[in-house]
Amino acid sequence: MSHLHELVKSADWKSEKHVPVIDAPDTAKADEWTVISATVGKEIAHPNTTEHHICWIALHYAPEGSPVSYELGRFEFSAHGQSAKGANQGPAFTDSTVTIRAKLLSSGRLFATAYCNIHGLWESGKSITIA
Ligand code: FE
Repeated sequence: MSHLHELVKSADWKSEKHVPVIDAPDTAKADEWTVISATVGKEIAHPNTTEHHICWIALHYAPEGSPVSYELGRFEFSAHGQSAKGANQGPAFTDSTVTIRAKLLSSGRLFATAYCNIHGLWESGKSITIA
């Protein structure tokens, strides 16, 4: 193995809890804000404990024909029950879902990547048409 991308896993999100689910319209307008969400554990809940949790989700956008992707945003989930009292004794747990707004000026593909502290990197994609 010589490249990181060889370790980025993908699967059907309905049967694999690590795959980020992208919720975005199939079609949007270039001059309007488009709401884009990404969630890990939408169908099958992923653990959210001090020992096992989703650390972050990042959203990328690849315009059709573009040789590069553009990062739309990245969100770190920092509270997983940790505290001075011990693991899972803390007062806060952030869940692995994020929603952003973006203006996309051409059709392309959205990508979400998610990182589990135990099970590594996962990705998914969804095409979007800009009318
Ligand atoms: Fe995991």
